[in-house]
This record gives sequence, structure tokens and C-alpha cells, in this order.
Amino acid sequence: MDAELRRVAADARGFMPADEGLALHAWAQRAVAVGPVLEIGTYCGKSTVYLAAGAAAAGGPPVVSIDHHRGSAEHQPGWPYHEPDLLDEAGTIDTLPHARATLARAGLEGRVVLVVGDSPQVARLWGTPLGMAFVDGAHTDEAAAADYEGWAPHVACGGVLAVHDVFTDPSEGGQAPRRIYRRALDSGAFAERDAVGSLRVLERTASGW
Ligand code: SAH
Ligand code: MG
Repeated sequence: MDAELRRVAADARGFMPADEGLALHAWAQRAVAVGPVLEIGTYCGKSTVYLAAGAAAAGGPPVVSIDHHRGSAEHQPGWPYHEPDLLDEAGTIDTLPHARATLARAGLEGRVVLVVGDSPQVARLWGTPLGMAFVDGAHTDEAAAADYEGWAPHVACGGVLAVHDVFTDPSEGGQAPRRIYRRALDSGAFAERDAVGSLRVLERTASGW
């Protein structure tokens, strides 16, 4: 990954360590041969820069990144990951301007389609087989299951389902992402191909799920 883009990604606010981001970059670069790359959980665009730079390096289509931009439970006022300057005048979280600014700084605005909306709603409207679905949205069991059930069926054979925040030890973080990662493996349709930090990358090896 280009050094300047790496710097922009490292400086962007968000929750994507550089080693995991570089793995996303490498997988996105490979995945576009199978189909487009889609992300659930844009936040301020940090992971999006890694994905879009990877897809662009391979001459792939723009990355689709979905977020309602209102933050997850842990980003709300009074919660551990709340960042007060993300509140708009109405006192509501709005990460969309920050995501747009990050992509502009990276020179990647033309390489990303930002979708503002609810992930399961978008999944129901979706019809294009994906080369990569990167799930990094809300971390309740209900939300993670909805993301899995909504997006795993759209991953093409040979494409990858990547899940963030998979922690083996519950003291490191919530277990909902780990449960959908296990569900994908237990379905028999996915095989693990990579693990970096809390990132897991699974390739679809069989149809169905
Ligand atoms: N990938 C980001 C971090 C994502 S944080 C990074 O690299 O920094 C999780 C994001 O998921 C939040 O921005 C939140 O608004 C979004 N989110 C939570 N539930 C969602 C839903 N149902 N639909 C769309 N986005 C959702
Ligand atoms: Mg995450």
C-alpha cells in the first residue's frame, strides 16, 4: 500500500489497527477479481481507506460502504467509545462528514460509494454477488446475526466474508462477532483463510450457508 495512503489511514479516526487494515487491503485487492467489495460499518472511513486502496490497486469497482452514521451503542454519550465532537448541532452522532473528509484526504472519493442506511435493509435490496463482505457493524447478537444473515448469502463462491472484532477471550471484547464467525465456519460453506488481530477472513468454498 502506497506510503501516503497508509499515513492517511493511520491518521484517520476509528478502530482499525494498521496490521489488520493492511490485511483488508490485500484481501480487497484479491477479491475484486471475483466481485465488488462491500463494508458494513464505515464510521469515519478508516477501514474504508484500506479497502478502497486495495480495490483500486487491482483496478476494481468502487467499494460500497454502508453505515447509518448514527453510531453503535458503544459510541453513544456516556458509553466507552463516545467521541463528543462527533455530535451534530442536534446532539446526534453524525460520522458521515468525517467519513467524507477521510476519503477526500485519501483521494479516494471516486473509489467509494457511501450508502447511508441500515445494513439489513440494504442487504434485502442487494442483488450483486460480492467478492468480499467486511462485517464491522453493531456488536449486539441481534445486529451481528442480522448482518451475517443479510450479507453472507451475497458472497460469491471464491469470495470472502471478513469479520472484525472476533475475540477468543471474552475479557477482550464482546462475543457476537465471534458467534457469527463460528456460524459461518459451522455452515460448511466457508473456510478460514486469514487471521490478523481480531480480523478473520473466510472464503466461500460452497454455495448455500
Ligand atoms: N470500520 C470502522 C469502525 C466501525 S464502528 C473503522 O475502521 O473505524 C461500527 C459502525 O457500525 C458505526 O459507525 C455504526 O454507526 C455502524 N452501524 C451500527 N449498526 C448499524 C446498522 N444497523 N446499519 C448500518 N450501520 C450500522
Ligand atoms: Mg471493528
